[in-house]
Amino acid sequence: MRAMVLEGFGQAAAAPLKKRDVPVPIPGPGEILIRVRFCGVCHTDLHTVEGELPDIVLPRIPGHEVVGTVAGAGKATGKLSLGFIAPAATAGSA
Ligand SMILES: [Zn+2]
Repeated sequence: MRAMVLEGFGQAAAAPLKKRDVPVPIPGPGEILIRVRFCGVCHTDLHTVEGELPDIVLPRIPGHEVVGTVAGAGKATGKLSLGFIAPAATAGSA
């Protein structure tokens, strides 16, 4: 999949995100895979890119406010089915 990846912190104006092809993640137990259709960019993303938040592990794909469809699911994900529209907001790993 194509993603904008943060490999090193830097001022947003210096465009520290790099376009990369990365493996499609495999959802683990209790996780779903979302095919992202839309992704908001908020100030948290700016803080992430500029290295102002603790515990950010690189490389990282910023963007934690997304809408998409469920494209895969690990075990124990309940009644979500493939194609379900999935709004999501998380500050977890990406
Ligand atoms: Zn946000």
